Amino acid sequence: MSEEIEKKIYRGRIKVPYKHTAGAYVERFITEIGKNNKIMGVKCPKCGKVYVPPKMICFTCFEKMEEWVEVGKQGTVKGFTVVTHSTPVMPLEPPYAYGIITLDGADTDFVHLINESDPKKLKIGMRVEAVFKEKPRKRILDIEYFKAI
Ligand SMILES: [Zn+2]
Repeated sequence: MSEEIEKKIYRGRIKVPYKHTAGAYVERFITEIGKNNKIMGVKCPKCGKVYVPPKMICFTCFEKMEEWVEVGKQGTVKGFTVVTHSTPVMPLEPPYAYGIITLDGADTDFVHLINESDPKKLKIGMRVEAVFKEKPRKRILDIEYFKAI
């Protein structure tokens, strides 16, 4: 003989505010962008690869990287996508692009905004330059966007 169990459901929301640390490397990376308009990477002592954004350990050699190097504010676009729809969290008013950018002096790619939206003007291999925010807020968006040069 089975017994039916009444199930009660209570609906509600639990607010869980949180903060997390960016870590020492990202902290320094973001600080240099905002305070000094410098884009910094770290160089592997074994293979010489320069990582931007900086990583603590080389993905190729597994060496700890501690040598900070400044890379260029200009770079080359390796890929892109155009954003045409808006949401409340968008950093720019569409249309704009997200680009995969290799900064001069870096060996890794960096994803950031490009303020160009015309697909005819966006090209793989095009050159771009960082535009820094006038009032930095210790965020990656202290590089406001990259512009075509
Ligand atoms: Zn390495």
